[in-house]
Parts: sequence; C-alpha cells; structure tokens
Amino acid sequence: MDFLRPTTWAEALAAKADQPEAVPLQGGTDVMVEINFDVRRPPALLDLTRVAELREWTVTGGRCRIGAGVPYRVVVEELGGVLPGLAQAARTVGSPQIRNRGTVGGNLGAASPAGDSHPPLLAGEAVIEVESRERGVRMIPAAEFYLGVKRSALRPDELTRAVHAEAAAGPQYFSKVGTRNAMVIAVCSFAIALDPVRRRVGTGIGSAAPTPRRAEEAEDLLARELDWDARTLDPSLLKWFGRLCAEAAAPIDDVRGTAAYRLHAIDVMARRTLTWAWNDHIGRRAA
Ligand SMILES: Cc1cc2nc3c(=O)[nH]c(=O)nc-3n(C[C@H](O)[C@H](O)[C@H](O)COP(=O)(O)OP(=O)(O)OC[C@H]3O[C@@H](n4cnc5c(N)ncnc54)[C@H](O)[C@@H]3O)c2cc1C
Repeated sequence: MDFLRPTTWAEALAAKADQPEAVPLQGGTDVMVEINFDVRRPPALLDLTRVAELREWTVTGGRCRIGAGVPYRVVVEELGGVLPGLAQAARTVGSPQIRNRGTVGGNLGAASPAGDSHPPLLAGEAVIEVESRERGVRMIPAAEFYLGVKRSALRPDELTRAVHAEAAAGPQYFSKVGTRNAMVIAVCSFAIALDPVRRRVGTGIGSAAPTPRRAEEAEDLLARELDWDARTLDPSLLKWFGRLCAEAAAPIDDVRGTAAYRLHAIDVMARRTLTWAWNDHIGRRAA
C-alpha cells in the first residue's frame, strides 16, 4: 500500500488527481478501523495531516470557515460561541481520544447517515468547499452533499477543503438518542437553528433516513405560522412541527433501534429542541 504524504494543499490535490483511488486520511478514526477490520484495503493512503491549512478556522464578517482537518476538540473548545449547534454535536462524538483525532471533514468523507456533524450543518445551511486539480473549487450546500448511505457528492479526484457556515444568528441545539451517554453511534439525532433576523428555523435529522436530511415541510410550517413576537410557543404549532419532522424521516429497523422508535424520538427531539431554542430566544429578547 502506497503512503502519500503531501505537505501543501496543491500537492494533496495533485496526488488525488494522479491517484484518484488513494483514500484520504485525516484523523483516521474511520479509515483505520476499516483497514484494521479488513473492510477495505486501498492501494494508497493520502495522509492529509501535514497540510497545515486544513487545521485552521476563521470567522470573517460573521462567516465561519472551518478547515476539513479541524478536530472535534477544537470545535468544542473554540467554536461553541459562533456555531453552538455544531459544538454540541461535536461534544457527543466518541470519547476525548476520538474528539482529539476525528474531524468534521472526516465525518463528511464517511457520509454516514448517523454522523453527528451532519444535522447541525444542515440546520445551519452550511456549504462544503471541495476542490480538484482539474476543475477547481465547488461549493456544495450541505443539503445537496449527501447522496445515499455513505455516499456523498464528492468526486473521486476531489478533496474536502473546508466547511462554511454563518455564525449563529440565534439559538441552536443538537439532541442525540443513544444507548448510553458516550462512545455511541446515534440511534437518531436532531438539530435546530433559529434565525430571528431572517425569521427562519433550520432543521437537520440524523440516523433516521438513508442520508442526513432537513425536515423541509416543518421548516416551511414555522416560516408561515411562527409568531416571532409572541412570548410563548403555540402548543398546537409545536405538536404539528414535531409531527412534520417525524414525517420527514424514513428510518429502518436495525440493531440500534426500530423505525417506530426513531419516528417517535424525532418527534420528541424536534419539539424539545424547538422549545429550548425558543426559550433562549425569549430570554435574549428580554435582556
Ligand atoms: C470509537 C469510535 C467512536 C466514534 N463515535 C462517533 C460518534 O459518536 N459520532 C460520529 O459521528 N462518529 C463517530 N465515530 C466515527 C468517526 O470518529 C467520525 O466519523 C469522524 O468524524 C471521522 O473523522 P476522521 O478525521 O477521523 O476521518 P478519517 O477516518 O481520516 O476519514 C473518514 C473518511 O473521510 C475521508 N476524508 C477525510 N478527510 C477528507 C478530505 N479532506 N477530503 C475528502 N475525504 C476525506 C476518508 O477518506 C474517509 O473516507 C467514531 C469512531 C470510533 C472509532
């Protein structure tokens, strides 16, 4: 097995263009498990850990750019103020060791329906920056990135360079159901992002369909019906929102849970996270 070790982004793109079958390696918390268990034996590994710029993040004019190699630990410790939904999700990933190595870029590369980054990226309308040597940069909205179970819009000669998202304009929450509190793949998960300026509520559903996805009808419902000047949430609207979020899911029965349980849990998490976010919104308005 070849081991390619570029030190610059240009070298990484060149290596991927010349050897599209080379498997990128960032934290290795997915790739190395697959190799150790003989799930795959690629002809080459493309080690991206020496490409320093992938580990950088910036916030410019209210817009965050997170390099594909920024580990979850940094997301938790440094980005909680600007992207609280993503930071909450990062906090639930694996263990401290996994959060030290594992990255949002790797989560996107794996494109598992259960990946914890995906719901907050969807709710916050994130955009994925990918690049190839031959065709240059493509900016892919998160909602168009996930194509199927562990399949993404990334082409064989492309690498993910960064994730872009607006700094949170309002409260954001992430909720995850697992069989225990740590080191657990989500049975299902849900993210919400309130934007009181645009009067928009974003959603993201995890581990309850072949791909992570938004609950678009539920978002449309709140765009039409939510009274942003009210003090309390209308209970019937909350119930309707939960139901539409569950209807947006398409879960299966598997070892982690039944489809029926997942539908119920999405309904509960949708109502719960909207209530938390709304209460924060009211608190901030009063302050
Ligand atoms: C014990 C354990 C617990 C875990 N718990 C969780 C959990 O709670 N939640 C969760 O979501 N995940 C969990 N995972 C899975 C894993 O940690 C995450 O998916 C993590 O985000 C992967 O990041 P990484 O940098 O280690 O990726 P890697 O393993 O390096 O790569 C993952 C995939 O992305 C591709 N890739 C990496 N970087 C790029 C790039 N720049 N461009 C294109 N493709 C790229 C790789 O080729 C590979 O296909 C766990 C894993 C382990 C071993």
